[in-house]
Amino acid sequence: MDEITALAKRRGFIFPSSEIYGGINGAWDYGPVGVELKRNVRQAWWRDVVELRDDVVGVDTAILMSPDVWKASGHLEHFYDMMVDCRTCKKRFRADQIATDRCPSCGNQTLTPPRVFNMMFRTSIGAMEDASSAAYLRPETAQGIFVDFKLVAQTARRKPPFGVAQIGKVFRNEITPGNFIFRSREFEQMELEYFVPPQPESEGLRWFSYWVGERYDWFIRLGVQPERVRRREYSGADLAHYSKATTDIEYDFPFGWGELEGIAHRGSYDLEQHVAGSGKDLAFFDEESKEKYIPAVIEPSLGVDRALLVFLLDAYEREDDRTVLHLHPRLAPYKCAVFPLVRNKPDIVALAQSVERALRPHMRTVLDDSGNVGKRYYRQDEIGTPFGVTVDYESLERQDVTVRDRDTKAQERVSIDRLREYLSEKLA
Ligand code: ATP
Repeated sequence: MDEITALAKRRGFIFPSSEIYGGINGAWDYGPVGVELKRNVRQAWWRDVVELRDDVVGVDTAILMSPDVWKASGHLEHFYDMMVDCRTCKKRFRADQIATDRCPSCGNQTLTPPRVFNMMFRTSIGAMEDASSAAYLRPETAQGIFVDFKLVAQTARRKPPFGVAQIGKVFRNEITPGNFIFRSREFEQMELEYFVPPQPESEGLRWFSYWVGERYDWFIRLGVQPERVRRREYSGADLAHYSKATTDIEYDFPFGWGELEGIAHRGSYDLEQHVAGSGKDLAFFDEESKEKYIPAVIEPSLGVDRALLVFLLDAYEREDDRTVLHLHPRLAPYKCAVFPLVRNKPDIVALAQSVERALRPHMRTVLDDSGNVGKRYYRQDEIGTPFGVTVDYESLERQDVTVRDRDTKAQERVSIDRLREYLSEKLA
């Protein structure tokens, strides 16, 4: 994890937030390379979960919502962790992470009894600060989907089974943020609420299994090594009282197996809570069967940052002479880097520029003319660029370039007029 954190900083993926002021716990900034990777993670999810399907539409709902939403959803009452404080060193811990009555930091037996700590960030709306102006930063994107359920179903003219997807920022006042971007206080989620008729129940369970499979496969399709991902099914007391089934997709992080994505069959709980809280009729009326019902919902919920961390960790390899990120081409920040062999030959530089310009509308490219070619390869390997294209003396005469493959390091001469097609095929 330390190596990934260092690489992320060195190469412009991820920096600690507000570092010049000593930083702030649980918040991270994405740099020029990281922002591309993050966009690609979101884009891969959106494409596969929304664009390529007939049965899912998207929304983008507000971070600030009526506080009544959080009352109805149960977050005001139940969205908490138990915490303990150490009276000696003043450090704070999650009660479930304390094994003995000694402080994990200073070792003294001066821990307070566990206390409830609500993880929602509270703020106030407008100029007055009193109980009536209280508002919360959303701790999940899902509630925006539930409260808009009826409007979305009507305007998109959908009937269950259909899904509503959303990607957006969420905030949780985690007691112990850590493990780099694994647990932050500000992060992004990609959530799908897939609405199904509540009956027959077997159909809902079938959709649940379908989504568990689909979400697992998504990571594998994007190159994650199968032996490092597993499914963990919840049962008995571990299952939320309203949930009919829950499975986590876990990853073998450097600190052990941890949740990557959660998939929950939430029954009709959420919509029913909002019917009770708002007094509005959120039931779905099926024109064909003349049936009226509150749909059940299957929810795959994934953190953008946590997925990105998994893609980084999984792609990371240290070889004898280099460090390389074997990122899937869909995720790689740049698909191709173009290098002029030397910097002081205007013809070579101009040709490299024109090669890069011609590729640019078709794929994310970068022109890199600093340092020697070996160093440039090294730098591009570290940020996971699948192909390096070098323009040399021969290129001027023969109108071709050397294409180097990131993973195999194999090099091949390709004519410039065929280059785009060649790369597009390899990247597909
Ligand atoms: P935990 O028990 O680890 O606190 P959770 O079960 O509360 O997590 P969910 O509410 O199921 O997490 O969140 C859905 C997804 O959002 C998680 O699978 C994870 O990918 C991501 N996520 C949750 N909390 C964080 C966080 N603090 N930082 C980054 N990503 C997070």
